[in-house]
Amino acid sequence: MTAEFPGAGALQNSGRISCIRQAEWLVAWDGVRNDFHYLRGADLVFRGDSILHVGGHFDGKVDHEIDGRQMLVLPGLINTHYHSNVTMIRKGITQDACNYLLPSFYQNVNILQPAETAKAAGTAFGIGQLLCGGTTTLMDWVAPYDGWLDTLAATGARVYAAPFFTSAEWSVSDHRLLRYRWLPDNGHALFDHAQAVMDAAEAHPSGRLAAMVAPSELEATTPDLLRQSHALARQTGRPFHVHAAESAREYAEFLARHGTSPIQWAAQIGLLGENSAIGHGLYLDHHSDLHAPAHRDLGLLAETGTTVTHCPTVFAAQGEGMEALSDYLAAGVNVTLGNDTYPHGMLQEMKLAVLVSRLKSRRDLGRATHPSTQGYSLGAGEIFRAATCGAADYLGRPDLGRLAPGCKADFFTVDLTDPGMMPLHDPLRSLIYCAGDRAVRDVYVGGTQVVAGGELLTLDLRGLGAGLTAPQAAMCAAVASRPDAAGRSADELWPLSLPVAKQTP
Ligand SMILES: [Zn+2]
Repeated sequence: MTAEFPGAGALQNSGRISCIRQAEWLVAWDGVRNDFHYLRGADLVFRGDSILHVGGHFDGKVDHEIDGRQMLVLPGLINTHYHSNVTMIRKGITQDACNYLLPSFYQNVNILQPAETAKAAGTAFGIGQLLCGGTTTLMDWVAPYDGWLDTLAATGARVYAAPFFTSAEWSVSDHRLLRYRWLPDNGHALFDHAQAVMDAAEAHPSGRLAAMVAPSELEATTPDLLRQSHALARQTGRPFHVHAAESAREYAEFLARHGTSPIQWAAQIGLLGENSAIGHGLYLDHHSDLHAPAHRDLGLLAETGTTVTHCPTVFAAQGEGMEALSDYLAAGVNVTLGNDTYPHGMLQEMKLAVLVSRLKSRRDLGRATHPSTQGYSLGAGEIFRAATCGAADYLGRPDLGRLAPGCKADFFTVDLTDPGMMPLHDPLRSLIYCAGDRAVRDVYVGGTQVVAGGELLTLDLRGLGAGLTAPQAAMCAAVASRPDAAGRSADELWPLSLPVAKQTP
């Protein structure tokens, strides 16, 4: 069954040998140093979904040749924290709403409910934009709905399906007090369904879907269900992911319930380790907002090899930020990136991750790279690793996030004639700090081209976006009838950024 969207078409991978000839710049993987390096004038050759050759002139037979002389070629970005349908049609509504300490967030989740019929289009529209910005692999963490897996496959992306399950529902009182309604049997039923969906993802004929075991929130899932789901991840080799340490309110909740931080409680019940990720991990016990007397969380994450998935934009938008990312990296924590909801661009998340880290840093005052200069320990190279090989390591996929023979042919090209890339001294710095998505030209997933000249080939992105306007309006019209809205309309809760003037005749 193919998802029905405007422009949806079958993806074809011919198995031909293709060569990007003489790429001006190419970010290659050096398996000896276990790190990236730049190559100049390099060939990238791929057959089917795999890379055959990266480096000097390729003499073998080639079916299709692409001139790389004005291109930067680099491995596709990996988005390790994304919710495709939850908030897409909330775009433009809540960005200027104060969510500090999160009660408003919980409230908004209850108030702004997209129609079931709009979910697939929202998923496709969001993922399509991520593809256009150079993301080739992403996880999608949503409550599964009919047609979800086919929708993921139709986008052309490589996707880890992460079906949502949790043991509690929440509500927010007029006094902004968060309440949990525990439904443990429901949590186990959701987990059973999630297992069936994960199995179906791995068996999907597209071959591009995988599964991630992802209970939604540490605070809203029973220890029993958390342990069971983590055991399933270990048994199946699937990555594990849970939201934790994402608000100061949640930190206080764990102190009240267990006398310890969310991270230390997660360690006590055995959730940390390689292939485990903490979604957000902002409020570790060294966060300056918490005034905690002892600082153990960062070391615990590093010792156990646990990953933190960092989404700087959504938190900066509500006036919050992780303590310096450079300190996480210096402590040895594997930090990967995601965009959580929107805007849909990994390159801008990479830029913001660097800038917020420098704003928050008290110790990253520079390291000597030359007697007369200093460089920050977190720069374009480090954040690029977080968005590629670091993410692939979390997923247990050494064949992703790297350009080397035997790796998947997941990569994108950047137009070096884009003004944002010029004058060109260091292409990663120009791309991340200046040009961003607009310089992304072509994107390939498993050797199949999904974006050409900045345009998505798999779906009609503009058609999908236009189709979301009516469902968004319907969702807003229904706000006043939602219990948590207490009779207020969408206009009252989230007025437009400027009033609409009456037209004079
Ligand atoms: Zn999230």
